[in-house]
Amino acid sequence: MLQPGLMMDRPLLVSAILEHAAAQFGAAQIVSRETHGPVFRYTYAECAARARRLANALHGLGLATGSAVGSIAWNNHRHLEAYYAVSGSGMVMHTINPRLHPEQLIYVINHADDRVLLFDATFAPLIAGIAALCPGVEAWICLSDSAHMPEVRGIGNLLCYEELLSPSSEQFEWPEFDERTAAALCYTSGTTGDPKGSLYSHRSLVLNAITICMPGILGLSQREVLLPIVPMFHVNAWCSPYAALIAGAKLVLPGPRLDGAGLHDMMETESVTVSAGVPTVWFGLVQYLEQQQIKLSSVRVIISGGSAMPYALAATLSDRYGIEVRHGWGMTETTAVATLNALDAEQMKLPAEERHAIVTKQGRSVFGVDIKVVDDRGDTLPRDGKSQGELMVRGHWIVSGYFKCATSPLSAGWFPTGDIASIDAHGVMQIKDRVKDLIKTGGEWVSSIDLENVAVAHPAVAFAAVIGVKHPKWQERPLLFIVRKQGRTLQREEIVEFLSTRVARLCVPDEVIFLDSLPVGGTGKVQKAVLREQYGDVFK
Ligand code: ADP
Repeated sequence: MLQPGLMMDRPLLVSAILEHAAAQFGAAQIVSRETHGPVFRYTYAECAARARRLANALHGLGLATGSAVGSIAWNNHRHLEAYYAVSGSGMVMHTINPRLHPEQLIYVINHADDRVLLFDATFAPLIAGIAALCPGVEAWICLSDSAHMPEVRGIGNLLCYEELLSPSSEQFEWPEFDERTAAALCYTSGTTGDPKGSLYSHRSLVLNAITICMPGILGLSQREVLLPIVPMFHVNAWCSPYAALIAGAKLVLPGPRLDGAGLHDMMETESVTVSAGVPTVWFGLVQYLEQQQIKLSSVRVIISGGSAMPYALAATLSDRYGIEVRHGWGMTETTAVATLNALDAEQMKLPAEERHAIVTKQGRSVFGVDIKVVDDRGDTLPRDGKSQGELMVRGHWIVSGYFKCATSPLSAGWFPTGDIASIDAHGVMQIKDRVKDLIKTGGEWVSSIDLENVAVAHPAVAFAAVIGVKHPKWQERPLLFIVRKQGRTLQREEIVEFLSTRVARLCVPDEVIFLDSLPVGGTGKVQKAVLREQYGDVFK
Protein backbone atom coordinates (compact mmCIF):
# COMPACT_ATOMS: atom_id res chain seq x y z
CA MET A 1 0.00 0.00 0.00
CA LEU A 2 1.23 3.50 -0.80
CA GLN A 3 1.96 5.56 2.26
CA PRO A 4 1.30 9.31 2.27
CA GLY A 5 4.37 11.46 2.94
CA LEU A 6 4.42 13.39 6.17
CA MET A 7 5.20 16.82 4.84
CA MET A 8 3.13 19.96 5.26
CA ASP A 9 0.77 20.70 2.44
CA ARG A 10 1.31 24.44 1.97
CA PRO A 11 -0.20 25.96 -1.19
CA LEU A 12 2.10 27.47 -3.84
CA LEU A 13 0.72 31.02 -4.05
CA VAL A 14 1.89 34.14 -5.89
CA SER A 15 1.51 36.20 -2.67
CA ALA A 16 4.12 33.98 -1.01
CA ILE A 17 6.68 35.09 -3.61
CA LEU A 18 6.08 38.75 -2.78
CA GLU A 19 6.27 38.29 0.98
CA HIS A 20 9.35 36.10 0.62
CA ALA A 21 11.01 38.83 -1.44
CA ALA A 22 10.04 41.57 1.04
CA ALA A 23 11.26 39.59 4.04
CA GLN A 24 14.44 38.03 2.60
CA PHE A 25 15.55 40.60 0.05
CA GLY A 26 13.75 43.69 1.29
CA ALA A 27 16.52 46.03 0.14
CA ALA A 28 16.86 44.54 -3.36
CA GLN A 29 16.14 47.12 -6.01
CA ILE A 30 13.46 47.53 -8.63
CA VAL A 31 14.26 50.11 -11.29
CA SER A 32 11.40 51.16 -13.54
CA ARG A 33 11.13 53.50 -16.50
CA GLU A 34 7.99 55.60 -16.07
CA THR A 35 5.73 56.02 -19.07
CA HIS A 36 6.51 59.75 -19.18
CA GLY A 37 10.26 59.13 -19.23
CA PRO A 38 12.12 59.32 -15.90
CA VAL A 39 13.47 56.34 -14.01
CA PHE A 40 11.90 55.39 -10.68
CA ARG A 41 13.67 53.23 -8.06
CA TYR A 42 12.53 51.51 -4.96
CA THR A 43 12.97 48.26 -3.05
CA TYR A 44 11.23 44.92 -2.86
CA ALA A 45 9.96 45.86 0.62
CA GLU A 46 8.43 49.07 -0.73
CA CYS A 47 6.93 47.21 -3.69
CA ALA A 48 5.29 44.70 -1.34
CA ALA A 49 3.84 47.51 0.81
CA ARG A 50 2.36 49.19 -2.24
CA ALA A 51 0.98 45.87 -3.58
CA ARG A 52 -0.82 45.44 -0.25
CA ARG A 53 -2.20 48.96 -0.56
CA LEU A 54 -3.45 48.16 -4.04
CA ALA A 55 -5.10 44.97 -2.76
CA ASN A 56 -6.95 47.09 -0.16
CA ALA A 57 -7.91 49.64 -2.82
CA LEU A 58 -9.30 46.97 -5.15
CA HIS A 59 -11.39 45.56 -2.32
CA GLY A 60 -12.53 49.12 -1.65
CA LEU A 61 -13.84 49.25 -5.22
CA GLY A 62 -16.04 46.27 -4.43
CA LEU A 63 -13.93 43.57 -6.06
CA ALA A 64 -13.76 40.19 -4.44
CA THR A 65 -12.04 36.84 -4.83
CA GLY A 66 -12.49 35.59 -8.37
CA SER A 67 -13.00 39.05 -9.96
CA ALA A 68 -10.98 39.70 -13.10
CA VAL A 69 -8.76 42.77 -13.40
CA GLY A 70 -7.44 43.66 -16.85
CA SER A 71 -4.18 45.44 -17.60
CA ILE A 72 -2.85 47.11 -20.73
CA ALA A 73 0.54 48.26 -19.59
CA TRP A 74 4.30 48.32 -20.15
CA ASN A 75 6.88 46.60 -18.00
CA ASN A 76 6.94 48.98 -15.05
CA HIS A 77 6.68 48.98 -11.24
CA ARG A 78 2.95 49.70 -11.08
CA HIS A 79 2.21 46.81 -13.41
CA LEU A 80 4.40 44.65 -11.18
CA GLU A 81 2.45 45.72 -8.07
CA ALA A 82 -0.76 44.78 -9.88
CA TYR A 83 0.63 41.34 -10.80
CA TYR A 84 1.00 40.60 -7.09
CA ALA A 85 -1.96 42.50 -5.62
CA VAL A 86 -4.52 41.04 -8.03
CA SER A 87 -3.41 37.41 -8.03
CA GLY A 88 -2.34 37.53 -4.40
CA SER A 89 -5.80 38.52 -3.24
CA GLY A 90 -7.43 35.67 -5.18
CA MET A 91 -8.48 37.74 -8.19
CA VAL A 92 -7.47 37.05 -11.79
CA MET A 93 -4.83 39.24 -13.44
CA HIS A 94 -5.83 39.49 -17.09
CA THR A 95 -2.92 40.90 -19.08
CA ILE A 96 -3.90 42.30 -22.46
CA ASN A 97 -1.78 42.84 -25.55
CA PRO A 98 -2.40 46.45 -26.69
CA ARG A 99 -1.73 45.53 -30.31
CA LEU A 100 -4.81 43.33 -30.56
CA HIS A 101 -7.37 44.73 -33.00
CA PRO A 102 -9.81 47.01 -31.14
CA GLU A 103 -12.63 44.47 -31.75
CA GLN A 104 -10.44 41.79 -30.19
CA LEU A 105 -9.60 44.04 -27.25
CA ILE A 106 -13.31 44.54 -26.63
CA TYR A 107 -13.90 40.83 -27.06
CA VAL A 108 -11.27 39.75 -24.53
CA ILE A 109 -12.23 42.38 -21.93
CA ASN A 110 -15.88 41.34 -22.10
CA HIS A 111 -15.14 37.62 -22.37
CA ALA A 112 -12.89 37.77 -19.31
CA ASP A 113 -15.52 39.77 -17.35
CA ASP A 114 -12.93 42.36 -16.39
CA ARG A 115 -14.40 44.58 -13.69
CA VAL A 116 -11.50 46.99 -13.48
CA LEU A 117 -8.97 47.87 -16.13
CA LEU A 118 -5.48 49.19 -15.38
CA PHE A 119 -3.73 51.00 -18.22
CA ASP A 120 -0.68 53.11 -18.93
CA ALA A 121 -1.20 56.68 -20.16
CA THR A 122 0.21 55.67 -23.57
CA PHE A 123 -2.93 53.63 -24.14
CA ALA A 124 -5.45 56.28 -23.07
CA PRO A 125 -6.59 57.02 -26.65
CA LEU A 126 -7.04 53.29 -27.23
CA ILE A 127 -9.10 52.97 -24.05
CA ALA A 128 -11.18 56.03 -24.94
CA GLY A 129 -12.12 54.29 -28.20
CA ILE A 130 -13.31 51.06 -26.58
CA ALA A 131 -14.52 52.00 -23.06
CA ALA A 132 -18.16 52.48 -24.07
CA LEU A 133 -18.21 48.98 -25.56
CA CYS A 134 -17.00 47.32 -22.37
CA PRO A 135 -20.02 47.77 -20.08
CA GLY A 136 -18.75 45.35 -17.42
CA VAL A 137 -15.73 47.52 -16.57
CA GLU A 138 -16.69 49.58 -13.52
CA ALA A 139 -13.44 51.56 -13.22
CA TRP A 140 -10.61 52.47 -15.59
CA ILE A 141 -7.45 53.09 -13.57
CA CYS A 142 -4.58 54.95 -15.18
CA LEU A 143 -1.20 53.76 -13.86
CA SER A 144 0.00 57.27 -13.15
CA ASP A 145 0.28 60.00 -10.56
CA SER A 146 -2.13 62.93 -10.73
CA ALA A 147 0.43 65.17 -12.48
CA HIS A 148 0.67 62.84 -15.49
CA MET A 149 -2.92 61.80 -15.99
CA PRO A 150 -3.83 61.84 -19.69
CA GLU A 151 -6.33 64.33 -21.00
CA VAL A 152 -8.83 62.22 -22.87
CA ARG A 153 -12.57 62.17 -23.19
CA GLY A 154 -14.79 59.15 -23.38
CA ILE A 155 -13.54 57.18 -20.37
CA GLY A 156 -16.22 57.05 -17.68
CA ASN A 157 -15.08 56.47 -14.08
CA LEU A 158 -11.47 57.25 -14.81
CA LEU A 159 -9.31 56.90 -11.69
CA CYS A 160 -5.70 57.78 -10.91
CA TYR A 161 -3.61 54.89 -9.56
CA GLU A 162 -1.56 56.95 -7.10
CA GLU A 163 -4.64 58.73 -5.76
CA LEU A 164 -6.29 55.38 -5.25
CA LEU A 165 -3.27 54.04 -3.39
CA SER A 166 -2.47 56.99 -1.14
CA PRO A 167 -5.31 56.59 1.42
CA SER A 168 -5.05 52.78 1.45
CA SER A 169 -3.47 50.86 4.30
CA GLU A 170 -0.32 48.85 3.66
CA GLN A 171 -1.56 46.15 6.02
CA PHE A 172 -3.23 43.36 4.12
CA GLU A 173 -3.57 39.71 5.02
CA TRP A 174 -3.15 37.70 1.80
CA PRO A 175 -5.84 35.03 1.71
CA GLU A 176 -4.82 31.39 1.61
CA PHE A 177 -6.56 29.11 -0.88
CA ASP A 178 -6.01 26.12 -3.11
CA GLU A 179 -2.92 26.53 -5.30
CA ARG A 180 -4.96 25.33 -8.30
CA THR A 181 -6.98 28.57 -8.13
CA ALA A 182 -6.79 30.83 -11.20
CA ALA A 183 -4.18 33.58 -10.83
CA ALA A 184 -3.76 35.06 -14.30
CA LEU A 185 -5.28 35.03 -17.75
CA CYS A 186 -3.76 35.69 -21.16
CA TYR A 187 -5.40 35.34 -24.55
CA THR A 188 -3.69 34.03 -27.66
CA SER A 189 -3.21 36.57 -30.43
CA GLY A 190 -6.18 35.13 -32.29
CA THR A 191 -4.72 35.16 -35.78
CA THR A 192 -7.41 32.59 -36.64
CA GLY A 193 -10.83 33.11 -35.03
CA ASP A 194 -11.46 34.67 -31.64
CA PRO A 195 -8.58 34.82 -29.15
CA LYS A 196 -8.57 31.94 -26.68
CA GLY A 197 -7.82 32.38 -22.97
CA SER A 198 -5.10 30.50 -21.11
CA LEU A 199 -6.00 30.57 -17.43
CA TYR A 200 -2.89 30.11 -15.30
CA SER A 201 -3.10 28.71 -11.78
CA HIS A 202 -0.99 29.90 -8.84
CA ARG A 203 0.66 26.51 -8.87
CA SER A 204 1.63 26.71 -12.56
CA LEU A 205 3.09 30.22 -12.21
CA VAL A 206 5.07 29.47 -9.06
CA LEU A 207 6.44 26.17 -10.38
CA ASN A 208 7.46 27.75 -13.66
CA ALA A 209 9.05 30.73 -11.90
CA ILE A 210 11.12 28.49 -9.62
CA THR A 211 12.22 26.45 -12.63
CA ILE A 212 13.41 29.36 -14.71
CA CYS A 213 15.62 30.61 -11.86
CA MET A 214 17.82 27.54 -12.45
CA PRO A 215 21.45 28.19 -13.45
CA GLY A 216 20.89 26.63 -16.89
CA ILE A 217 17.90 28.86 -17.64
CA LEU A 218 17.85 32.47 -16.37
CA GLY A 219 20.42 31.64 -13.71
CA LEU A 220 19.00 34.13 -11.20
CA SER A 221 20.36 34.93 -7.75
CA GLN A 222 20.80 37.98 -5.51
CA ARG A 223 23.90 38.81 -7.55
CA GLU A 224 22.13 39.09 -10.89
CA VAL A 225 20.40 42.04 -12.52
CA LEU A 226 17.48 41.01 -14.74
CA LEU A 227 15.95 43.15 -17.47
CA PRO A 228 12.87 41.49 -18.97
CA ILE A 229 12.17 43.04 -22.38
CA VAL A 230 9.52 40.44 -23.11
CA PRO A 231 6.27 42.24 -22.30
CA MET A 232 4.34 41.81 -19.08
CA PHE A 233 1.19 42.17 -21.21
CA HIS A 234 1.77 38.82 -22.93
CA VAL A 235 2.51 35.38 -21.48
CA ASN A 236 3.48 36.74 -18.05
CA ALA A 237 6.76 38.15 -19.39
CA TRP A 238 7.81 34.50 -19.37
CA CYS A 239 7.28 34.51 -15.57
CA SER A 240 10.36 36.70 -15.05
CA PRO A 241 8.49 39.12 -12.70
CA TYR A 242 7.93 36.17 -10.35
CA ALA A 243 11.35 34.56 -10.83
CA ALA A 244 13.30 37.75 -9.98
CA LEU A 245 11.54 38.07 -6.62
CA ILE A 246 12.04 34.39 -5.77
CA ALA A 247 15.79 34.75 -6.37
CA GLY A 248 16.26 38.27 -4.98
CA ALA A 249 17.71 39.58 -8.24
CA LYS A 250 17.65 43.31 -9.00
CA LEU A 251 14.79 43.85 -11.45
CA VAL A 252 15.04 46.46 -14.20
CA LEU A 253 11.79 47.29 -16.01
CA PRO A 254 12.27 49.21 -19.26
CA GLY A 255 8.79 50.76 -19.62
CA PRO A 256 8.00 51.87 -23.16
CA ARG A 257 11.63 52.46 -24.26
CA LEU A 258 12.39 49.27 -26.15
CA ASP A 259 14.57 50.72 -28.90
CA GLY A 260 18.30 49.95 -29.09
CA ALA A 261 19.35 53.25 -27.50
CA GLY A 262 16.88 52.95 -24.61
CA LEU A 263 17.82 49.37 -23.86
CA HIS A 264 21.55 50.01 -24.11
CA ASP A 265 21.25 52.95 -21.73
CA MET A 266 19.35 50.94 -19.10
CA MET A 267 21.59 47.91 -19.46
CA GLU A 268 24.72 49.98 -18.91
CA THR A 269 23.38 52.28 -16.17
CA GLU A 270 21.93 49.44 -14.13
CA SER A 271 24.67 46.87 -14.84
CA VAL A 272 22.20 44.36 -16.25
CA THR A 273 23.56 40.80 -16.39
CA VAL A 274 20.61 38.81 -17.76
CA SER A 275 17.89 39.77 -20.20
CA ALA A 276 15.02 38.10 -22.06
CA GLY A 277 13.27 39.03 -25.29
CA VAL A 278 12.32 38.10 -28.85
CA PRO A 279 14.80 38.12 -31.78
CA THR A 280 13.45 41.39 -33.26
CA VAL A 281 14.50 43.17 -30.08
CA TRP A 282 18.02 41.68 -30.28
CA PHE A 283 18.23 42.71 -33.96
CA GLY A 284 17.33 46.27 -32.96
CA LEU A 285 19.87 46.31 -30.14
CA VAL A 286 22.66 44.86 -32.30
CA GLN A 287 21.95 47.37 -35.06
CA TYR A 288 22.26 50.20 -32.54
CA LEU A 289 25.51 48.81 -31.11
CA GLU A 290 26.92 48.46 -34.64
CA GLN A 291 25.92 51.98 -35.64
CA GLN A 292 27.37 53.52 -32.49
CA GLN A 293 30.43 51.24 -32.42
CA ILE A 294 29.80 50.44 -28.76
CA LYS A 295 29.53 47.32 -26.62
CA LEU A 296 27.61 46.08 -23.61
CA SER A 297 29.77 45.81 -20.53
CA SER A 298 27.71 43.73 -18.11
CA VAL A 299 25.18 41.58 -20.03
CA ARG A 300 26.30 37.96 -19.71
CA VAL A 301 23.32 35.90 -20.83
CA ILE A 302 20.20 36.49 -22.86
CA ILE A 303 17.19 34.25 -23.31
CA SER A 304 15.71 34.59 -26.77
CA GLY A 305 12.35 33.08 -27.62
CA GLY A 306 9.00 33.72 -29.23
CA SER A 307 10.36 33.13 -32.72
CA ALA A 308 13.39 31.38 -34.14
CA MET A 309 16.92 32.55 -33.32
CA PRO A 310 18.78 32.99 -36.64
CA TYR A 311 22.36 31.69 -36.81
CA ALA A 312 23.74 35.09 -37.85
CA LEU A 313 22.21 36.82 -34.84
CA ALA A 314 23.42 34.16 -32.41
CA ALA A 315 26.92 34.45 -33.91
CA THR A 316 27.01 38.27 -33.67
CA LEU A 317 25.78 38.34 -30.07
CA SER A 318 28.25 35.70 -29.03
CA ASP A 319 31.38 36.52 -31.09
CA ARG A 320 31.18 40.30 -31.19
CA TYR A 321 29.51 41.08 -27.88
CA GLY A 322 30.50 38.07 -25.73
CA ILE A 323 26.91 37.31 -24.76
CA GLU A 324 25.74 33.74 -24.20
CA VAL A 325 22.52 33.16 -26.11
CA ARG A 326 20.03 30.68 -24.67
CA HIS A 327 17.20 29.87 -27.00
CA GLY A 328 13.79 29.04 -25.53
CA TRP A 329 10.47 27.92 -26.95
CA GLY A 330 7.06 28.42 -25.45
CA MET A 331 3.61 29.74 -26.19
CA THR A 332 0.68 31.40 -24.46
CA GLU A 333 -0.63 27.94 -23.63
CA THR A 334 2.63 26.86 -21.95
CA THR A 335 2.72 29.67 -19.29
CA ALA A 336 6.28 30.53 -20.34
CA VAL A 337 9.39 28.63 -21.27
CA ALA A 338 8.82 24.94 -22.07
CA THR A 339 12.07 24.03 -23.85
CA LEU A 340 15.46 25.67 -23.63
CA ASN A 341 18.75 25.34 -25.43
CA ALA A 342 21.80 26.12 -23.34
CA LEU A 343 25.13 24.60 -24.28
CA ASP A 344 26.52 21.82 -22.10
CA ALA A 345 30.19 21.48 -21.07
CA GLU A 346 31.17 19.43 -24.13
CA GLN A 347 29.35 21.72 -26.56
CA MET A 348 31.11 24.74 -25.04
CA LYS A 349 34.41 23.30 -26.32
CA LEU A 350 33.19 23.12 -29.94
CA PRO A 351 34.32 25.60 -32.61
CA ALA A 352 32.22 28.78 -32.69
CA GLU A 353 30.28 27.87 -35.88
CA GLU A 354 29.16 24.58 -34.39
CA ARG A 355 28.11 26.23 -31.15
CA HIS A 356 26.03 28.86 -32.93
CA ALA A 357 24.36 26.19 -35.09
CA ILE A 358 23.32 24.31 -31.95
CA VAL A 359 21.83 27.47 -30.45
CA THR A 360 19.46 27.88 -33.41
CA LYS A 361 17.58 24.82 -32.12
CA GLN A 362 14.94 25.22 -29.43
CA GLY A 363 16.48 22.74 -27.02
CA ARG A 364 15.45 20.23 -24.40
CA SER A 365 12.23 20.33 -22.45
CA VAL A 366 12.74 21.78 -18.98
CA PHE A 367 11.87 19.71 -15.92
CA GLY A 368 8.09 19.58 -15.58
CA VAL A 369 7.42 19.47 -19.33
CA ASP A 370 7.31 16.43 -21.65
CA ILE A 371 7.49 16.76 -25.43
CA LYS A 372 7.02 14.45 -28.40
CA VAL A 373 6.41 14.79 -32.14
CA VAL A 374 3.66 12.83 -33.85
CA ASP A 375 2.65 12.04 -37.42
CA ASP A 376 -0.76 12.70 -39.01
CA ARG A 377 -2.23 9.64 -37.30
CA GLY A 378 -0.98 10.73 -33.89
CA ASP A 379 1.76 8.08 -33.72
CA THR A 380 4.96 9.15 -31.96
CA LEU A 381 7.87 9.71 -34.36
CA PRO A 382 11.42 8.56 -33.56
CA ARG A 383 13.85 10.90 -31.84
CA ASP A 384 16.29 10.85 -34.76
CA GLY A 385 16.61 14.57 -35.45
CA LYS A 386 15.03 14.07 -38.89
CA SER A 387 11.44 12.87 -38.52
CA GLN A 388 9.17 15.89 -38.49
CA GLY A 389 5.69 16.07 -37.07
CA GLU A 390 3.45 18.12 -34.83
CA LEU A 391 4.99 18.99 -31.49
CA MET A 392 2.89 17.78 -28.54
CA VAL A 393 3.48 18.95 -25.01
CA ARG A 394 2.24 18.20 -21.49
CA GLY A 395 3.27 19.29 -18.03
CA HIS A 396 2.60 21.26 -14.85
CA TRP A 397 2.19 24.58 -16.64
CA ILE A 398 0.55 23.54 -19.91
CA VAL A 399 -3.14 24.40 -20.49
CA SER A 400 -5.68 21.64 -20.04
CA GLY A 401 -8.46 23.71 -21.66
CA TYR A 402 -9.33 27.24 -22.71
CA PHE A 403 -11.21 29.71 -20.53
CA LYS A 404 -15.01 29.33 -20.90
CA CYS A 405 -14.57 26.85 -23.72
CA ALA A 406 -16.31 23.50 -23.44
CA THR A 407 -14.25 21.56 -25.96
CA SER A 408 -10.87 20.27 -24.84
CA PRO A 409 -7.88 21.06 -27.04
CA LEU A 410 -6.04 18.00 -25.73
CA SER A 411 -5.34 14.83 -27.63
CA ALA A 412 -4.93 11.83 -25.29
CA GLY A 413 -3.66 14.13 -22.53
CA TRP A 414 -1.21 16.08 -24.73
CA PHE A 415 -1.55 19.64 -26.02
CA PRO A 416 -1.08 19.91 -29.81
CA THR A 417 1.03 23.00 -30.39
CA GLY A 418 0.48 23.60 -34.11
CA ASP A 419 4.27 23.70 -34.51
CA ILE A 420 6.17 21.28 -36.72
CA ALA A 421 9.33 20.00 -35.07
CA SER A 422 11.89 17.23 -34.83
CA ILE A 423 13.59 15.86 -31.72
CA ASP A 424 17.05 14.27 -31.79
CA ALA A 425 18.48 11.39 -29.77
CA HIS A 426 19.62 13.82 -27.05
CA GLY A 427 16.12 15.23 -26.66
CA VAL A 428 16.99 18.47 -28.47
CA MET A 429 13.91 19.84 -30.24
CA GLN A 430 14.00 21.97 -33.36
CA ILE A 431 11.00 23.92 -34.62
CA LYS A 432 10.72 23.69 -38.40
CA ASP A 433 7.76 25.98 -38.72
CA ARG A 434 4.25 26.70 -37.61
CA VAL A 435 1.83 24.41 -39.39
CA LYS A 436 0.22 27.42 -41.02
CA ASP A 437 3.54 28.98 -42.09
CA LEU A 438 4.97 25.90 -43.80
CA ILE A 439 5.08 26.34 -47.58
CA LYS A 440 4.11 23.51 -49.91
CA THR A 441 5.67 24.01 -53.31
CA GLY A 442 5.65 21.41 -56.08
CA GLY A 443 4.72 18.78 -53.50
CA GLU A 444 7.68 19.60 -51.22
CA TRP A 445 7.57 21.28 -47.82
CA VAL A 446 9.69 24.39 -47.35
CA SER A 447 10.32 25.92 -43.92
CA SER A 448 9.88 29.69 -43.82
CA ILE A 449 12.13 29.79 -40.73
CA ASP A 450 15.02 28.09 -42.57
CA LEU A 451 14.82 30.59 -45.42
CA GLU A 452 14.62 33.59 -43.10
CA ASN A 453 17.64 32.37 -41.17
CA VAL A 454 19.72 32.14 -44.33
CA ALA A 455 18.53 35.52 -45.64
CA VAL A 456 19.48 37.42 -42.44
CA ALA A 457 22.98 36.01 -42.72
CA HIS A 458 23.54 38.35 -45.71
CA PRO A 459 25.54 41.35 -44.42
CA ALA A 460 23.16 43.90 -45.98
CA VAL A 461 19.98 42.38 -44.51
CA ALA A 462 18.51 43.76 -41.29
CA PHE A 463 15.27 41.73 -41.18
CA ALA A 464 13.74 39.03 -43.37
CA ALA A 465 10.38 37.28 -43.50
CA VAL A 466 9.05 34.56 -45.76
CA ILE A 467 5.45 33.62 -46.48
CA GLY A 468 3.88 31.06 -48.79
CA VAL A 469 1.84 32.60 -51.60
CA LYS A 470 -0.62 30.78 -53.86
CA HIS A 471 0.87 29.95 -57.25
CA PRO A 472 -1.00 28.69 -60.34
CA LYS A 473 1.65 26.09 -61.20
CA TRP A 474 3.48 25.29 -57.98
CA GLN A 475 0.52 25.42 -55.56
CA GLU A 476 2.54 27.78 -53.35
CA ARG A 477 5.83 29.63 -53.72
CA PRO A 478 7.92 31.32 -51.03
CA LEU A 479 7.83 35.10 -51.11
CA LEU A 480 10.74 36.85 -49.41
CA PHE A 481 10.54 40.24 -47.70
CA ILE A 482 13.75 42.08 -46.92
CA VAL A 483 14.51 45.15 -44.83
CA ARG A 484 17.98 46.38 -45.73
CA LYS A 485 20.43 47.57 -43.08
CA GLN A 486 20.69 51.35 -42.94
CA GLY A 487 22.97 52.74 -45.64
CA ARG A 488 23.33 49.35 -47.42
CA THR A 489 22.28 48.57 -50.95
CA LEU A 490 21.02 45.18 -52.00
CA GLN A 491 19.32 44.11 -55.21
CA ARG A 492 16.99 41.20 -55.84
CA GLU A 493 19.60 39.34 -57.92
CA GLU A 494 22.21 39.54 -55.15
CA ILE A 495 20.02 38.04 -52.45
CA VAL A 496 18.66 35.37 -54.83
CA GLU A 497 22.22 34.42 -55.74
CA PHE A 498 23.17 34.35 -52.04
CA LEU A 499 20.27 32.03 -51.26
CA SER A 500 20.91 29.83 -54.31
CA THR A 501 24.26 28.73 -52.94
CA ARG A 502 22.82 27.94 -49.54
CA VAL A 503 19.38 26.33 -49.95
CA ALA A 504 17.79 23.78 -52.30
CA ARG A 505 16.79 25.21 -55.69
CA LEU A 506 13.13 24.64 -55.00
CA CYS A 507 13.31 26.85 -51.91
CA VAL A 508 14.87 29.89 -53.58
CA PRO A 509 12.15 32.56 -53.78
CA ASP A 510 11.32 33.89 -57.27
CA GLU A 511 10.16 37.19 -55.86
CA VAL A 512 11.76 39.48 -53.31
CA ILE A 513 9.97 42.49 -51.89
CA PHE A 514 12.03 45.20 -50.22
CA LEU A 515 10.27 47.04 -47.39
CA ASP A 516 11.27 49.85 -45.00
CA SER A 517 10.02 47.79 -42.08
CA LEU A 518 8.14 44.57 -41.38
CA PRO A 519 4.75 44.63 -39.65
CA VAL A 520 5.51 43.70 -36.05
CA GLY A 521 2.91 42.80 -33.40
CA GLY A 522 2.84 43.79 -29.74
CA THR A 523 4.99 40.86 -28.74
CA GLY A 524 7.70 41.86 -31.22
CA LYS A 525 6.97 39.09 -33.72
CA VAL A 526 6.54 39.62 -37.44
CA GLN A 527 2.84 39.54 -38.34
CA LYS A 528 2.82 37.16 -41.28
CA ALA A 529 -0.97 37.39 -41.49
CA VAL A 530 -0.63 41.09 -42.42
CA LEU A 531 1.92 40.22 -45.13
CA ARG A 532 -0.36 37.46 -46.46
CA GLU A 533 -3.27 39.85 -46.60
CA GLN A 534 -1.30 42.45 -48.56
CA TYR A 535 0.80 40.26 -50.83
CA GLY A 536 -1.15 36.99 -51.00
CA ASP A 537 -2.10 37.57 -54.65
CA VAL A 538 1.25 38.46 -56.23
CA PHE A 539 1.43 35.29 -58.33
CA LYS A 540 -2.19 35.27 -59.48
P1 ADP B 1 1.32 34.36 -30.97
O1 ADP B 1 2.68 34.33 -31.62
O2 ADP B 1 0.25 33.88 -31.89
O3 ADP B 1 1.05 35.60 -30.23
P2 ADP B 1 2.34 32.92 -28.79
O4 ADP B 1 2.92 34.12 -28.19
O5 ADP B 1 1.65 31.96 -27.92
O6 ADP B 1 1.30 33.26 -29.88
O7 ADP B 1 3.47 32.24 -29.63
C1 ADP B 1 3.67 30.87 -29.67
C2 ADP B 1 4.29 30.45 -30.96
O8 ADP B 1 5.47 31.20 -31.25
C3 ADP B 1 4.73 29.02 -30.97
O9 ADP B 1 3.68 28.14 -31.24
C4 ADP B 1 5.79 29.01 -32.07
O10 ADP B 1 5.20 28.89 -33.35
C5 ADP B 1 6.39 30.39 -31.95
N1 ADP B 1 7.64 30.31 -31.18
C6 ADP B 1 7.83 30.55 -29.88
N2 ADP B 1 9.13 30.41 -29.55
C7 ADP B 1 9.78 30.05 -30.68
C8 ADP B 1 11.14 29.74 -31.00
N3 ADP B 1 12.10 29.80 -30.09
N4 ADP B 1 11.42 29.41 -32.27
C9 ADP B 1 10.46 29.34 -33.23
N5 ADP B 1 9.17 29.63 -32.99
C10 ADP B 1 8.83 29.98 -31.74
